[in-house]
Amino acid sequence: MAKLTFLGAAGCVTGSKYLVETAGPGGASKRLLLDCGLFQGTDELKQRNWSALPIDPKTIDYLVLTHAHLDHTGWLPVLVRDGYRKPIYANPATIELTEILLKDSGHLQEEETQHAVKHKWSRHAEPRALYTSEDVEPVLKLLRPMPRSGGFDVSPEFHFESYDAGHILGSSSLELTVTENGKKTVVVFSGDIGRYDQPILKDPTTPAAKQIDALLCESTYGDREHEAGDPLQLLGDIVNRVAKRGGSIVIPAFAIGRTQTFMYYLRQLENLQRIPRLPVYVDSPMAQTATELYLKYKEDHDVQFSRDEKNNGDPLNVHEFHLTRSVEESKAINDVKSPCVIISASGMVTGGRVLHHLAQRLGDARNCVILGGFQAEGTRGRALQEGAKTLNLFGQVVPVRAEIVEMGQFSAHAGKSELLRWLTGLQTPPKQVYLTHGEPAAAQSLQQAISEKFRWKACVARYLDTVEI
Ligand SMILES: [Zn+2]
Repeated sequence: MAKLTFLGAAGCVTGSKYLVETAGPGGASKRLLLDCGLFQGTDELKQRNWSALPIDPKTIDYLVLTHAHLDHTGWLPVLVRDGYRKPIYANPATIELTEILLKDSGHLQEEETQHAVKHKWSRHAEPRALYTSEDVEPVLKLLRPMPRSGGFDVSPEFHFESYDAGHILGSSSLELTVTENGKKTVVVFSGDIGRYDQPILKDPTTPAAKQIDALLCESTYGDREHEAGDPLQLLGDIVNRVAKRGGSIVIPAFAIGRTQTFMYYLRQLENLQRIPRLPVYVDSPMAQTATELYLKYKEDHDVQFSRDEKNNGDPLNVHEFHLTRSVEESKAINDVKSPCVIISASGMVTGGRVLHHLAQRLGDARNCVILGGFQAEGTRGRALQEGAKTLNLFGQVVPVRAEIVEMGQFSAHAGKSELLRWLTGLQTPPKQVYLTHGEPAAAQSLQQAISEKFRWKACVARYLDTVEI
């Protein structure tokens, strides 16, 4: 009988890692790890990044990724440093995005550690990076392509079918068939499920498995719906309001996904002449590459985006676009006193250049911060969302006077009813559902909704639990 162990994203939103093991004839067990994410958020969660796995990474035979986000890939450098040497399979778009994300992650961790040492703001006496750029290189050499959609044999024991998850470029839901002694066991991994009717990407597709022994379903927004309302209208109102009072807009956003969505809407608003043409600074060394990849992988595009591309040429480019790569260029944005839009990572204000922009602009009531994505417990983004009056940035207390706007319309995660809609698409009831990738309240709420609506057996996955499937 195959076994499944929850090595992350169980009882929390980050650190996705699921281990599947076959029993194997004569003890010749095979091990497959699905995703290898970083824990983010509270200190307690981040501490887990420093602990070794309960199994030796050398004994893992295969690794497969659902998508490139760091909470699904960001621990790979540690795993490989600790001895994993086998292939890491992902579709081509995910491979390219993972490369830029991991390089950036290694670099950021070095930068932050140096900054902490220099300015003595860390709680640790001798702050050190979890990994550096040097640890990232060996990971990139192990990445191997698998098809964007359809079937793929990782080995005689493990077969995958991939489906669009509509969350970020290349994001997939994966259906794994484990074959052992002629017996087939099917596990469906939802990955992160995206939104229906969003720009650029296709809608999420529910896997078409005819047998499901276990379903791991994400529950990030398992207890919530996103705000209703037309994002184009809402964003237009904000831009006009802030520009009128002479302020600027700071958008903490991942360079991948949300940055492109904001650019898409800003461009649309400009085309419709509903907002003034403000300078838009995308302050991220990797945003340009990410945008190019979004344009390159056309198989992920929805019908409307393909049409926009044909009609407008460049739907992800605003008229007054400024891309900053170097630190000097980034600092120069501080001198811009007239209305502008600054998009910069990280999305949950856990690190990255957005910290500098917030330190600079949070204290001014004319400015506005748009929170467009999920803000995990313990992050500065969550504190802003919950109305914090001050924020700790680089060891300094910065007053929060700027307008804080939450725009769930820009979330890349399905809301509760969208998760249920995705589940409705399953062709057969799963024997067991495990709710993953959600804070406890969200996972429990979705569990209850699933039990009531479908009468399926559902439970919240527990960190480090092993179950038989
Ligand atoms: Zn994700």
